Amino acid sequence: MRRPTDAEALQQVLSTALGSPEPVGFLPQLGAGQGAFSPLDPAVLERPTLVGGAALYNPAAPTPTVSTVDELVRRAKALDVPQILVPHVRRTDDPSALRAAGFVPVAAGAECVVRLTGEVDELLRARVGGARQRALRRCHEALSRDLTWERIPLSELGGAPRARDAFVELHRRRAERLGQGHDPYNTKALDALADGALGDRTQLLVRRRGDSVVQAVLTATSYNGRGLYHLTQAVDPDDPVGVADLHAAALYGIYLDARRSGLHWVHLGPGERHGKRDLGADLFVPLDHWLRADNLTAPKEAEAGPELSRFAADPVTTVPVPGPARSRHQPRFDTIDLSSNTNPFLGTASQYPHLDTAELADTYLSTIAKLPGHEGAGALTADHLLFSSGSVDGVMLLLAALASPGEAVCVTPPTFPLYAHFARLLRLPLLEVPLRGEDLSELDTERILAGDPRVTILCDPNNPVGTRLDPAQVRALVTGARGLVVIDEAYVEFSEKPSYAGLVAEHDNLIVLRTLSKAWGLASARCGIALAQPGIIDALRRVQVPFGFTDASQSAVRERLTNARRALASVRHIRAERDRMAQTLAEHPAVQRVFPSEANFLLVRLHKHERVMEELHNAGITVADVGFLIPGTCRISIGNRRANEAVLAALSAAV
Ligand code: PMP
Repeated sequence: MRRPTDAEALQQVLSTALGSPEPVGFLPQLGAGQGAFSPLDPAVLERPTLVGGAALYNPAAPTPTVSTVDELVRRAKALDVPQILVPHVRRTDDPSALRAAGFVPVAAGAECVVRLTGEVDELLRARVGGARQRALRRCHEALSRDLTWERIPLSELGGAPRARDAFVELHRRRAERLGQGHDPYNTKALDALADGALGDRTQLLVRRRGDSVVQAVLTATSYNGRGLYHLTQAVDPDDPVGVADLHAAALYGIYLDARRSGLHWVHLGPGERHGKRDLGADLFVPLDHWLRADNLTAPKEAEAGPELSRFAADPVTTVPVPGPARSRHQPRFDTIDLSSNTNPFLGTASQYPHLDTAELADTYLSTIAKLPGHEGAGALTADHLLFSSGSVDGVMLLLAALASPGEAVCVTPPTFPLYAHFARLLRLPLLEVPLRGEDLSELDTERILAGDPRVTILCDPNNPVGTRLDPAQVRALVTGARGLVVIDEAYVEFSEKPSYAGLVAEHDNLIVLRTLSKAWGLASARCGIALAQPGIIDALRRVQVPFGFTDASQSAVRERLTNARRALASVRHIRAERDRMAQTLAEHPAVQRVFPSEANFLLVRLHKHERVMEELHNAGITVADVGFLIPGTCRISIGNRRANEAVLAALSAAV
């Protein structure tokens, strides 16, 4: 509730529930979220407390300003109340007035929001996985058959005394069940809500089985008219369907209605991310309760942000992260947002993409942390990750952010040519140190170190060869280099050998690039990932053009990562097919050599390079002719069986 008058209306409800003109009660009495207070001195729980802002069980109110904090302190003094609580303050707000007045933050979970970015089933599938989405839908459909809904605007509550009594009774029983000494929604409180500023925007949904009410839900439309707050819900614990299913099915129905009515979000209220994520939430705003009480000591003030990397190039140290990206964590869903000069009449596409991708970053990191060879990746946080428009964009960003004129970029040919391409475009001197060994998998580390480049870019598995680099040499380079080492792991999911992602936490000169374009099958979404220490990520963010990662791409990525099984099964299939093709090609008379591959392609040296390329061309098959990098070779991606067989047939025709 980002409008002070809305918060005041909720405070009125709390006062009424507490039966006092001022919202004064004891912390254990004040509704949900008491768990947050349990580490505190028990004496704090036993003293009366004045509540400022909205009630504990409601969405976050605006953070008090200096004058509202002063007023609260005055009131507490006048009432002789020793403690003050300002519940559910968004961590993205500025708490300086609270801090200055001696308030102390107590972590309180997060506000959880379901953004309605598409059709309900589609978005749930992306966020909770196909199996859970289908279960939610089935549950909703079954209950819609068995139970009936009634929707009562709160302003008409007087005409529906039975629904009103049932709502209150279900809440009373719930409070009893949860051991809450106090029921935040007694009859008087509900009437106060109906008569207050929120009355016109609030409705009661009651669901009946036969004659008896088994579920009562209270929702309020947001002040900006774009979304819906799910304020509270109580169900009959004795109903055969069960509390969790009744709860989830009601939410599914609310999402459907909200989407049909053109709303953009449903606010699930404060809670723990995990449970709410399972109900489709995808936007989380961390919250604190701010408490002013005797003997509470303030924790050290959080630092403003990560310290910028020592590798940041000169101009990067002097410019901030561009405005929109700087305020990426500031939620705007429940304000009237007139800050972006967009057209409000043409639907959701008129809005800029969502910039707070921390949640998606966590999803990516937890997904890769479960993959073999990703030990240590679990220690990385969203601050270690930047999404870019494909990993190639990441190369451009890092060169622009971390290398200055005159500082060399080292590449190890034969390798992905775009590294050298961007270095040249940025007028950075190029140091080429060719790979060695029969499989082109050995680095000339001595020469690289002697060249002292600002940035060394390795590709592992290497395109176009397919081999992995010698891991001992890669590690020696990371620890021995004065400059940065970048490891492009575009194909690493196809390899049996470990990733270097986990090493990022230990080395401030290491950047690992990943992509959703290869194993994850999302080249069209343009999603690359840079993993590095937060000071480097900060430098890259200062250079990055905001809004490159569109909402559609973010949804596609979320969907793919949440339903990872299919992608991972296809990777296993590709590996097996690669090994089969490698063997078949190795025995083929047109082929001189197949390089060992840990990627989803094979580098093949041909007896008659030109002749084979012509035959493939005539057969309507495009492969990468990489003869300009490694004489006599072509690089063949692993396709489906039909495509692979077509390649073999064309090669036979060329013999
Ligand atoms: N790195 C390597 C080594 C590649 O082979 C490719 C694609 N050919 C990329 C990066 C590009 O990936 P993205 O689609 O993420 O830009």
